[in-house]
Amino acid sequence: ERLERLQKVLAQAGIASRRHSEELILQGRVSVNGQIVRELGTKVDPEKDRIEVDRQPIRKEQHLYLLLHKPTGVITSLHDPQGRRIVTDLLSGIEERVYPVGRLDYDTSGLLLLTNDGELANKLAHPSYEIDKVYRAWVKGIPDSRQLLKLQRGIALEDGMTAPAKAKLLEADAQKNRALIELTIHEGRNRQVRRMCEAIGHPVLELSRIRLGFLTLDGIKPGAYRHLTAAEVDKLK
Ligand code: URA
Repeated sequence: ERLERLQKVLAQAGIASRRHSEELILQGRVSVNGQIVRELGTKVDPEKDRIEVDRQPIRKEQHLYLLLHKPTGVITSLHDPQGRRIVTDLLSGIEERVYPVGRLDYDTSGLLLLTNDGELANKLAHPSYEIDKVYRAWVKGIPDSRQLLKLQRGIALEDGMTAPAKAKLLEADAQKNRALIELTIHEGRNRQVRRMCEAIGHPVLELSRIRLGFLTLDGIKPGAYRHLTAAEVDKLK
């Protein structure tokens, strides 16, 4: 639940400027859940409260949910002082401001969710939500089962122990002295997968996030995105 001042909600819905919205409230033209409200400080839930001006429901802020296949070489940020490409550069045709849910490193590719639904973004980012984040990493060398077990038990990083992870070896390429592993974690610390692999002596060569909860990148090429379906959004909530 996210409460906001009524005049702000009216202004954001494009009803009027903040000042003029205050006047509408003072004039008794605004109702919340059927009750006229004349108090300027009134807090409302823009998602759940029924807000009307002159008995007309206000247009609600449209929520957008985008699933992007982030390529490497793009920064998960809305601004980069160094002028590198940013993820929103990839969203042609999207006028609304959307924000990335969590982040992927510049050199990491894979599934990134973007939305202007702050409530859902916070929820997904919170560790207690325990959404699966599944990564595939090419690492240097070939980890043995003892090293995979370390990942599974949790690794002591400088910012504390990691929670137990799922870790499995998918491919071992002895010729090139590298291996493909799949790691499932619920946390989202800075460079966490890279630091975990580094800690077992197998630094990451290439990293991609292939799944977030039930969402996958099926059919989405690097650099492309799609909207989530209404059913997918419901399921995430
Ligand atoms: N872990 C990392 O190390 N990097 C990412 O981009 C995501 C998870």
